[in-house]
Amino acid sequence: MVVKTSHIPAGGETVLGGDFFMNAGGKGANQAVAAARYGNRVVFIAKTGDDLFGAKARETLQKDGIVTDYVFLDKEHPSGVALITIDKDAENCIVVASGANMHLCAADIDAAAEEIRSADVVLMQLECPIETVEYAARMATEAGVPVILNPAPAPAEPLREELLRNLYLITPNRSEASRISGIEVKDMESAQRAAKAIYDMGPRNVIITLGAEGSLIYDGQMFMRVEAIQVEAVDTTAAGDTYNGVLASVIAEGRSLIEAANEANRASAISVTRMGAQPAAPTRKEIEEMKKR
Ligand code: ADP
Repeated sequence: MVVKTSHIPAGGETVLGGDFFMNAGGKGANQAVAAARYGNRVVFIAKTGDDLFGAKARETLQKDGIVTDYVFLDKEHPSGVALITIDKDAENCIVVASGANMHLCAADIDAAAEEIRSADVVLMQLECPIETVEYAARMATEAGVPVILNPAPAPAEPLREELLRNLYLITPNRSEASRISGIEVKDMESAQRAAKAIYDMGPRNVIITLGAEGSLIYDGQMFMRVEAIQVEAVDTTAAGDTYNGVLASVIAEGRSLIEAANEANRASAISVTRMGAQPAAPTRKEIEEMKKR
């Protein structure tokens, strides 16, 4: 829920704001939408409250053909929301109330086990309990399903070695890569060092996304650089979500990591030219058209 205001209120202050918007979000949902618009079957595993926001989330996901059978209902906790204030200089201030998201548990993963074990790829983020992510990563890995972790938001505690070893791919952005590796990513040289340090923690591949600088892939042997496509960016919210969703969708087709990174790069470049998160994610057709240009 976003409200525009002249200035962000200080403690105890009330301001009369301007326009109010409600946008569907959540990293998982944004990534699921991007993956589905690429044309593959997406099963979304998540948890919402038994409220209007949860019902609306299911409805929007279904419009993109996403299977919502495993978007569980939590009768005790409300749906996760983010309260966002944006001032006249576009500076923002965000409070996230995770709600039901933080109650997605191992039993829910068990309920979705059949889908997980037969999937072509599993993509996760860190907006639900880390124990649940670890549990699902173990289940998928034991079934031979490649696991991608987008470690966002940046983890407060170090990620456990067992989880990192169960990953086919980890996809931090610049600040997440800095946090995880302990190396400040400020240029290509430090990005390479961070990618190598993260690779040494266990995942089989690392992609660091670098905003308008594109992305850097490391597979333990060599670094590959994907340059961002030059576009007129109007809103970079969820660029990483579009990138991750499309990346996973391409990998699910059995295509190479570099091909996946190139498609994800095109998709996220299109998304930053549009406002919003989910509405901005392109279809496969739009990505194909971009290739012709
Ligand atoms: P996040 O949104 O998670 O912070 P990034 O900012 O690293 O992620 O962006 C993810 C990807 O989106 C980048 O690797 C790049 O491919 C694309 N991207 C982001 N910003 C731009 C931009 N201004 N122009 C073109 N592509 C962009």
